[in-house]
Amino acid sequence: MPIFEDFPTCFACRSIDLEIVHNDDFGPMTACTQCGYSWIATFKDFTSEITITKAS
Ligand SMILES: [Zn+2]
Repeated sequence: MPIFEDFPTCFACRSIDLEIVHNDDFGPMTACTQCGYSWIATFKDFTSEITITKAS
């Protein structure tokens, strides 16, 4: 069995400084606070203790 990390990391820079941002078009997005890369949030992201931000 492969061992998965307990928390998501940035696909681009591998930072763990992530936040959830709600996007009106794409829904919840995980955004990296280090490099700005963002992607559609997965269930795994939601289970992590990372900040959820409601974009205005
Ligand atoms: Zn990043």
